[in-house]
Amino acid sequence: MPQQPLLSVQNLTIQFRTDDGLGKAVDGVSFDLYPNETLGIVGESGCGKTVTALSILRLIQSPPGEISSGKILFDGTDILTLNENELRAIRGNRIAMVFQEPMTALNPVFTIGDQIGEVFRIHQKSSKAEARAKSIEMLRQVGIPDPEKRVDEYPHQLSGGMRQRAMIAMALGCKPVILIADEPTTALDVTIQAQILDLMDELKRKFDASIILITHDLGVVANYAQRIAVMYAGKIVESCTVSQIFSNPKHPYTVGLMESIPAIQDEGDKPVRLREIKGIVPPLHDMPPGCPFHPRCHRRFEPCDKETPQLLEVGAGHLCACHLHIGCVKPPA
Ligand code: SF4
Repeated sequence: MPQQPLLSVQNLTIQFRTDDGLGKAVDGVSFDLYPNETLGIVGESGCGKTVTALSILRLIQSPPGEISSGKILFDGTDILTLNENELRAIRGNRIAMVFQEPMTALNPVFTIGDQIGEVFRIHQKSSKAEARAKSIEMLRQVGIPDPEKRVDEYPHQLSGGMRQRAMIAMALGCKPVILIADEPTTALDVTIQAQILDLMDELKRKFDASIILITHDLGVVANYAQRIAVMYAGKIVESCTVSQIFSNPKHPYTVGLMESIPAIQDEGDKPVRLREIKGIVPPLHDMPPGCPFHPRCHRRFEPCDKETPQLLEVGAGHLCACHLHIGCVKPPA
């Protein structure tokens, strides 16, 4: 991409202290987010996606978490060096977040209008009446019918889809340049999921924003993102454009994720048995040596349990961390 990145995460490492020891939830992660794009960050639960997203807004609880190295550059400033006041000017204002489960993110004892309005009162110093009017307008923008009535309702009075729309209204209230959406549709019915993702995509264009879309679902990325970073065990193992990933996936983990998407496996009317990736993501404190994916990888070979593959360019703008592609040792035929 020819443009300057809007956000640049560089060599980010985040450690967590658990009862079982110290482990890296995020290990040397780097990526850029460009203006007006959606970057999909994909991987199973426990791969470090959410921790990465939370760190951009400095929402990692410390202890037990600790950002031990790296930079998060936004507007020429390293977010990791900001004090609380400086951070407040960015958080919810220039960079906002939509969480997976709106019921836990919304406060049940305040009305939807109070909660959306707070964003305007804090960041735009709006009066109560102005904040209410702006909240109604945002509810209208996210497609909530009868917003003048809904603004006075409590979260439990809204359906799951409506609550997520209200969360999006709150996140977009100050017209942030970056929206971080962490599994924004996982808690919703399948029929509502596409509506919410379509809405976010439409609002991204309308508000001229960029999105970091965290998901375990490569199918979601196929439809809504332009670039993708696949994470496994705290590392990015593959990154490229969405068309590259679907036409020429390189990393065996990415291939495994693709083989578990129903639409991609669908061969006409013939039902196709989906493949699973056997095994589980290793725990933080017990990462295997060498390639962290090797205990689950059906293509592992001689160097995989000893040498950690580096994330290197394997094609134009296509990065992959796998010995099969970086010529460390000749792979088996
Ligand atoms: Fe599999 Fe080896 Fe590649 Fe790791 S480095 S993904 S174990 S082939």
